[in-house]
Amino acid sequence: MPGTTRWKADTAWLGGDALVSDVLIETQGDTITAVGTGYDGEFDRRLTGLVFPGLVTAHSHAFHRALRGRTHQAGGDFWAWRRPMYQLAGRLTPETYYDLARAVYAEMLLSGITLVGEFHYVHHRPNGESFTDPNAMSEAVVSAAMDVGIRITLIDAAYLASDMNGTPPLQEQTRFSDGDIESWSQRVHDMASRLGANPLARLAVAAHSVRAVTTGDLEAIAGVASELSAPLHIHVSEQPAENEACLAAHGVTPIELLHRHRYLNENTTLIHATHTTDNDRRLIAESGAGVCFCPTTEADLGDGIGPGIEYQEAGVRLSLGSDSNATIDILEEAKRIEQHDRLRLGRRAIHDPASLLDAATAGGANALGWPETGRIEAGSLADFVVLDDRSLDLAGLDLDSGVTSIVMSSTRSAVTDVVVSGEMLVTNRVGFGLPTLSDIDQAIKRVWM
Ligand SMILES: [Zn+2]
Repeated sequence: MPGTTRWKADTAWLGGDALVSDVLIETQGDTITAVGTGYDGEFDRRLTGLVFPGLVTAHSHAFHRALRGRTHQAGGDFWAWRRPMYQLAGRLTPETYYDLARAVYAEMLLSGITLVGEFHYVHHRPNGESFTDPNAMSEAVVSAAMDVGIRITLIDAAYLASDMNGTPPLQEQTRFSDGDIESWSQRVHDMASRLGANPLARLAVAAHSVRAVTTGDLEAIAGVASELSAPLHIHVSEQPAENEACLAAHGVTPIELLHRHRYLNENTTLIHATHTTDNDRRLIAESGAGVCFCPTTEADLGDGIGPGIEYQEAGVRLSLGSDSNATIDILEEAKRIEQHDRLRLGRRAIHDPASLLDAATAGGANALGWPETGRIEAGSLADFVVLDDRSLDLAGLDLDSGVTSIVMSSTRSAVTDVVVSGEMLVTNRVGFGLPTLSDIDQAIKRVWM
């Protein structure tokens, strides 16, 4: 029976519009057992600053981190950006993928992220043959997360085609493909049984996009999700060209296609959903599906500005993703939703700040199949972070408007301490057993050598 730890927080966000003072968080093992306010009794650990549920990136491609700063010279658009991304994907081995993912997950943890959704599609050797262990690349990603101590949902994506109607993969996409949906399903079931009761890792499934699978495959993938009780993800309507291709091939928008093929339900998370119609948003809201915005990546790639407030008003739950990891800062992603809508609509204070913090925490956790984390309350997993209220971001903070200030002013640089499963993994901005900055630098450079 694990012992009880009493954590005393100077201030905490327990949900809603207010910050509360003198909070006692009692944990036993990996779980929060009690939360009290106005506490002035004894404690075991003091948390100086603002305590938050752990931040969640619901959509990450760890290996894209190695593209940071390397794709801006040639101009172009999303489709041109894919070329160096494919070049990089072509270089990865299970060993370099592990090193890179470990470096990226360390950066995430130091940025206050306690749960990552890794949307994983580099499955096989560059010529398409399986590694000796067909799940060697999945194992590399999960091992990297376990070695750092971050919680992970491995989102195994089927990527079987290069365009609508099952056009075969391009040469550079060959290693993403399992050949057919049955082989994908078999590999996914094998990975699901390996993760079993791992306390830090779970599985989700995805179609990479409506371009990467047939409509029959969409139904099969949704079936696997329901069989495994796993979350169901997909990239969708990130680019107008995808919508046009879908309309030309199927006569409907990508969202309508997902609706038609039973891919939209309360376990579904739609990544980006940037270019959607009123009818698309109605279908999403009625299905109970969520939407994951990745605003720094969407800005980086020139994707466009998603209709954030339209989703919120329709009752669609949002989550946030660092996606290409060109930026790893979930507070920045939350702020961008508000700021992008201000730029788009020409007015201020559009979103309820608490709803944006929900997207950064419990909304993401829910999208990744961890509904028991993302909140500081009894029964939740003990994942939380501390923000320094005297940091450059937050010095002078007015507690009455504190929740808004955090959304609009704070960044990852205010994160000082990080607790996952009741274990303090980062203290005063220093991580325990994490790769050093030099390791991170080397892991990124090595994949380009
Ligand atoms: Zn993505």
